[in-house]
Amino acid sequence: MDLFYRSTRSNSDVVKASQAILKGLAQDGGLYVPESVPHLDKSLDELANMTYQETAYEVMKLFLTDFTEVELKDCISKAYDNKFDTEQIAPLVEADGTYFLELFHGATIAFKDMALSILPHLLITSAKKNNVKNEIVILTATSGDTGKAALAGFADVEGTKIIVFYPKNGVSPIQEKQMITQKGENTFVVGITGNFDDAQTGVKQLFGDRALAEIMDKAGFQFSSANSINIGRLVPQIVYYVYSYAQLLKMGSVKKGEEINIVVPTGNFGNILAAYFAKQMGVPIAKLICASNENKVLYDFFKTGIYDRNRAFVLTSSPSMDILISSNLERLIYLTAGADASRNVEFMKSLAAEGKYEITADMRENMKDFYGNYASEQETADIIKMLYEKTGYVIDTHTAVAAAVLNKYREETGDKTKTVLASTASPFKFTRSVMNAIDTKYDVMGDFELVDELSKIAKVKVPRAIEEIRTAPILHSTVCGKEDMKSVVMKFLGVGSN
Ligand SMILES: *Cc1c(COP(=O)(O)O)cnc(C)c1O
Repeated sequence: MDLFYRSTRSNSDVVKASQAILKGLAQDGGLYVPESVPHLDKSLDELANMTYQETAYEVMKLFLTDFTEVELKDCISKAYDNKFDTEQIAPLVEADGTYFLELFHGATIAFKDMALSILPHLLITSAKKNNVKNEIVILTATSGDTGKAALAGFADVEGTKIIVFYPKNGVSPIQEKQMITQKGENTFVVGITGNFDDAQTGVKQLFGDRALAEIMDKAGFQFSSANSINIGRLVPQIVYYVYSYAQLLKMGSVKKGEEINIVVPTGNFGNILAAYFAKQMGVPIAKLICASNENKVLYDFFKTGIYDRNRAFVLTSSPSMDILISSNLERLIYLTAGADASRNVEFMKSLAAEGKYEITADMRENMKDFYGNYASEQETADIIKMLYEKTGYVIDTHTAVAAAVLNKYREETGDKTKTVLASTASPFKFTRSVMNAIDTKYDVMGDFELVDELSKIAKVKVPRAIEEIRTAPILHSTVCGKEDMKSVVMKFLGVGSN
């Protein structure tokens, strides 16, 4: 039986998985949500003996019901291969009584690789299934991490091209180097003389430009997005929560049926929503602990029932969580409002107009599996140092936010339930913040000197992703004003001039 997807903003838009993946966002601006969350049809004992790839198939087949077995297995094997530096793909490491689920063993050493390795394959398979003949052109605006992970995912994937826009002076030197050294005939990277918002607005305009869409169609292209609201990113993220529980069973760390908690460092609310779906699929999960940095909109929301983005934006040492509008939260709002699109639309209207909304008591009751808290910059740095000194294990700043929040939760509640913590980035990606947290004496060192020092103290080999950019040649040098993005796209694609 096919599982259908509905938009969070209308009751009439009903599509199959492959159509939802192709569209990304629904026409009405809503996000696609499955009509129901399927239950696992293999026992956790059976899953405990499966590889990551086999687990991925067992989970994803239940959501992507219009993909054939051959299609889905083909996508999975192309995604989770030796781009990852460990066969386990997402290993579980115990330190100081917590299970760290390392989601950073892919091409760009951050958790976005878990979904962006497979999205290109899901997308071209979806295009074939729906008789789309055009080549898919991915347009992405990035503040750093997503751009590189998307480039790595789409590089040399047949039937696709990818164009990434980043703020020329708004990303870290390592992030810029990662992007402008990207290989692949089908990749294009452009620096914008403007900030991230300019890049994002420019990309949105290109998506909304009907005349451009027509020109593209004639030339055999169509735009698509690799944005985190695509269900083609959400579904692959459910896999590693199922896998982590199965691994705990296999290691004998939990007894059959024993509940665990999960703590996730959160920005756009995609990763923790995947954990929520894993719980609904039948994984014994008690609490979902939502960890924020000083941009603590979600903490306030879970505490008060009021979502309020009207506040100063704080730049923190965990930049991938510096977000005031968590776009995936809309899915939880919709579901806890009884899958009622009209109720959700009211909240989203209020968010757009006033920057805030307040949910009802029944919705709060439906969210009681969630617990929110946040960590200050100091608390984040302190836990990196404490964990290193106590165990020798070094975590990145995002992971540290989750670790600090987990400690607060344990102190506040006395809950001793075993906990899986989503480790979302390698410490090598945020080397300076991590090393400074351990000892401020490191601050005088250069970027790559710090990398070598981290490798020494953590006794971990420098990841390939970092080794590569040390010496990699620069392959992209285009810089343009925000008003020139359209002509740059047309030039790259060799499509007529205006
Ligand atoms: C994107 C990202 C997050 C936040 O994940 P969401 O799904 O947006 O909540 C956390 N940590 C890192 C390192 C990230 O790149």
